[in-house]
Amino acid sequence: MDAILSNRRQSPSGNGVEVCDLTCPSCNHVAVLAFEGWDAVACLGCRAELQRPAEGLPPLNPGQELAIRVGVLRDALAADLRAMTEPDGTHSSDYGSRLAVFVNILSEAISAYEETQPKPF
Ligand SMILES: [Zn+2]
Repeated sequence: MDAILSNRRQSPSGNGVEVCDLTCPSCNHVAVLAFEGWDAVACLGCRAELQRPAEGLPPLNPGQELAIRVGVLRDALAADLRAMTEPDGTHSSDYGSRLAVFVNILSEAISAYEETQPKPF
């Protein structure tokens, strides 16, 4: 999953290297990391592999950051749901039916949020 990068800045050491805060969308662990020179790192909190976002460091506000976390949660629930859905589309338990509702609610929340964002064109 993509890491959340924020607060790009000069390193306090004054050696000219830029650093940023890397937040794990899965467990919320924050680490300070060099801004450049890596493609993926392991989260020190949960060991998840975090990819450097393709766009580097997009401007993130708290709403965008929350939208990314909600997306990670939605994708995890959707994977659980796929694993417990029978070939004929039914669920093997009531929990599967509830998961389907959760995934739809989170997807609607993400869409509603994205519709409020300024478009780049
Ligand atoms: Zn983590």
